[in-house]
Amino acid sequence: MIGDIRNIVILTGAGVSAESGLATFRGPDGLWEGHRVEDVCTSEALARDVELVHRFYDERRAKLIEVTPNAAHEALAALDRAWGGELLIVTQNVDDLHERAGAKRLIHMHGELKSALCAACGKAVAWPGPLPPASVCDGCSRPSLRPDIVFFGEMPYEMERIDAALRDADLFVSIGTSGAVYPAAGFVQTARHVGARTLELNLDPSAGSFYFEESRMGPASKLVPDLVQELLG
Ligand code: NAD
Ligand code: ZN
Repeated sequence: MIGDIRNIVILTGAGVSAESGLATFRGPDGLWEGHRVEDVCTSEALARDVELVHRFYDERRAKLIEVTPNAAHEALAALDRAWGGELLIVTQNVDDLHERAGAKRLIHMHGELKSALCAACGKAVAWPGPLPPASVCDGCSRPSLRPDIVFFGEMPYEMERIDAALRDADLFVSIGTSGAVYPAAGFVQTARHVGARTLELNLDPSAGSFYFEESRMGPASKLVPDLVQELLG
């Protein structure tokens, strides 16, 4: 699998942070921390119950203080530091564990808990603490700040940059994602189309396992350091 590889794209999902103590999106109950996706991850939910949606992300943001990066985040950061070719880590996660481990070549395609977005002017601002509804944007002075989370139906961030990296990739690795959320779930097909090798690391086979040349099943804290060691020789 490994050899003649220069350009790498890595997609991560909630599974990479599970061993740090952050619940995945679709736990055994199909809920995210006790909530239906429709109630906390859509613009309709935000319009219907702004208090609930802000409180939900306030709780997720507060939880970040209690958790630390695990061996998978550490290994990916080490790969980022050492890898001489192109490398892009695209995470669907809204936690900050990749950057706390030291990853630099990183895109948060679904937004970030520690950021607030102005619904009126589009300005994003670093936001470490609770975000009360109607907080005022320092760009346009309107009370329009919302969590900087890409809801279902909204366009993920940096799609052009991600697409360009996928088209140049020699290796695409998907780690700890259920393969249920598009467009991320389709990255493997783009990578295959351009002839990249494709590898999935996950606890159980995902919805998209079929598309990967190789699937390795197990916890990210074991599989990711092993892969990084293989890549760095
Ligand atoms: P998901 O919950 O749908 O799937 C998680 C996947 O990880 C599953 O396939 C599961 O088998 C696997 N997994 C669980 N534990 C694992 C482990 N220890 N090692 C390896 N794999 C493991 O998550 P997703 O596909 O990332 O869903 C996408 C959405 O969920 C994103 O939009 C994201 O913003 C949101 N989300 C983010 C976080 C976070 O930031 N930490 C947490 C929950 C949900
Ligand atoms: Zn604004």
